[in-house]
Amino acid sequence: MHAHIHPQPGILEIALYQGGSSKIAGREDAVKLSSNENPFGPGDLARMAYARAGHDLHRYPSTDHARLRAALGAQFALDPSRIICGAGSDEIISFLCQAYAGPGEEVLYSEHGFLMYRISALAAGAKPVVASERDRTTDVDALLASVTARTKLVFIANPNNPTGTMIPIEEVARLAEKLPPRVLLVLDGAYAEYAEGYDGGAELVDRRENVVMTRTFSKLFGLGGLRVGWGYGPQHVIDVLNRVRGPFNLSNVQLDVAEAALGDAGHIARSLNENARLRDWLAEKLNGLGVATDRSHANFVLARFRDAAQAEACNAALLADGLIVRQVASYGLPEALRITVGDESACRRVAHVIGTFMETQG
Ligand SMILES: *Cc1c(COP(=O)(O)O)cnc(C)c1O
Repeated sequence: MHAHIHPQPGILEIALYQGGSSKIAGREDAVKLSSNENPFGPGDLARMAYARAGHDLHRYPSTDHARLRAALGAQFALDPSRIICGAGSDEIISFLCQAYAGPGEEVLYSEHGFLMYRISALAAGAKPVVASERDRTTDVDALLASVTARTKLVFIANPNNPTGTMIPIEEVARLAEKLPPRVLLVLDGAYAEYAEGYDGGAELVDRRENVVMTRTFSKLFGLGGLRVGWGYGPQHVIDVLNRVRGPFNLSNVQLDVAEAALGDAGHIARSLNENARLRDWLAEKLNGLGVATDRSHANFVLARFRDAAQAEACNAALLADGLIVRQVASYGLPEALRITVGDESACRRVAHVIGTFMETQG
């Protein structure tokens, strides 16, 4: 801390976010399974849009994102005037905290919730508050019991990262219904597309004045490096968020590539099918090896070991074989490893290395 120049309260409590590592020193063939990225990358339509966008870099981008919002509205059957786009859904989360929570107020989320909720709450000067989960699953009653007169925002990711579990929409609706009217419920739908038959909570947003949904192009659409996410909410909330959003928060490259990715039905279907097939295959393999998993509704599997030491040793074995997965002690799960569902060869390698590792365990 500097002797004289001090940041706002809360800022120095923020621990820097650690992204999933992507390299192992001295290894060219490392496979990154630590950030829940689509193993197939962006589709051809997105790649072509990216190449085309290079011709217009001297132009300022659209300030209202009308084309991308219209495309999102058409794709997901939503009202485009109630969509807001941001630099990843992280930016939407940050707008929400900035606009609705401040000093003396609380932002509530669950035990194994996404680290950005805490970071954005602290950055806004608000107090992060954690409610317990039940068997690594969002517990609506525990959240409701943690609401105080100071609570302004409640975040839940459904499906959740890093657990992969989700709660039924009826439970989400019960939470929205029981919250005091001054509390805004945020449904983080970063993995919504992977959950069969789930709309991310869009229909609930349409029915209520206190629910917002966030979505992203970073996971299923294979565009984590591009940084595009969006939110859908009641008009009064979207109008507020647009006031804190910078007019040029997305470049024309981001806008054009995201729009193209949305229209690539072939790439989307292939990514979804392969993920579902390999996720179930990997989970079954792990369970057969004595490594427990919860049923995942996302593009990763949370592998649970006997204890933190065994998880650490298994992580070392995976690294020795060029496989990078995510340690999740910072999410309160030191005995677990989060493994992104890669392509078939990556999944087979993971199963092989963990199988060999488990044979060495008593
Ligand atoms: C990956 C992820 C996001 C998406 O972040 P972006 O900023 O859109 O890349 C949001 N929430 C959760 C829970 C995630 O895992």
